[in-house]
Amino acid sequence: MSSQQHSSASRGPTAADRAREPVSSVHVDAILTGRATTVAAFTVAALSFVVAAFGLRPHDAHRASSPGHPDYAAGSLVESYLGRPITPVAELKEWRYSDWMGWHAAGDGTLFVGINCEQGRVRDYADGGPQWRAFLRACVTEVGADFILSPTQSIVVTNVAPDHRATVERLMAEHRILPIEAVDPLTRLSMACPALPLCGLAVTEAERLMPTMITRVRAVMDHLGLLDEEVMMRMTGCPNGCGRPYMAELGFVGDGKASYQLYVGGSPVLTRVGFEYKERCKTKTIEHSLEPLFAMWRDERLDESEAFGDFAARVGQPALAAFAADYVCTSAVAK
Ligand code: SF4
Repeated sequence: MSSQQHSSASRGPTAADRAREPVSSVHVDAILTGRATTVAAFTVAALSFVVAAFGLRPHDAHRASSPGHPDYAAGSLVESYLGRPITPVAELKEWRYSDWMGWHAAGDGTLFVGINCEQGRVRDYADGGPQWRAFLRACVTEVGADFILSPTQSIVVTNVAPDHRATVERLMAEHRILPIEAVDPLTRLSMACPALPLCGLAVTEAERLMPTMITRVRAVMDHLGLLDEEVMMRMTGCPNGCGRPYMAELGFVGDGKASYQLYVGGSPVLTRVGFEYKERCKTKTIEHSLEPLFAMWRDERLDESEAFGDFAARVGQPALAAFAADYVCTSAVAK
């Protein structure tokens, strides 16, 4: 039984439940043209609004545009925003997540290298940390490189001639920039919004806390024998979700001073929105909230290839909560 089915049975689907369901399909050609992107974004907003306001059943959205359908008024409102008929949901083809980290051929005779920039903060850290600003400046002056800022808060150094690869690698070492092979997969997959002190809407930490949280999550996973596992984590300082936590396998959404809602059930390839597992999880004792989830995943996953997010989506929130209720946490709480 899915989480949506559970919630439907107990209290009826909420707007959040419905917002997780596919509503319509947008062809890739529409996304690749600037004007269509605006239209698509506006459409998503309009659909979300209508789903929340009218309770339109999303999988009926295209049928609701027919006169006589009980949701016709809402469906035609959406179509008036969109300017064309609502497209039925299409089956999603197999998807692959690629962040383009490490060295690759660009296809035009040059190379590029993707470098993880933890939580996207470009600065020259004191106390032996990475010297990002100096490194990027040196890449420009010494090898004439260009840069792409990735949508997952990392940096791709482009336009590197093959005989300049050794120079870039030397600059990385000199400026304490880690090659991707030396980065913990939890860090590589993680993102966090700026939150405190940079965002006026933040209710708690995100970017500044995430490195510590990754260390604590890794410690819990090691404690449970999940030594080589990867989990995509994202954290935001408020429910606005600028770091896209709702799609992660494990999302931390700030809901109070030093406390978070935990979202689980997102897909490791980012094709599914997760659900709220628990709210008001205190940072101070976060191990108590996390260990039952990982322990249940370790013990009850279909096989070792079932990712944490896929497992959580399969068993649903009530099963996770029931397991956690009887679970005795043995992880040390970080000081
Ligand atoms: S998620 Fe909230 S705290 Fe984070 S950047 Fe967005 S508005 Fe600010």
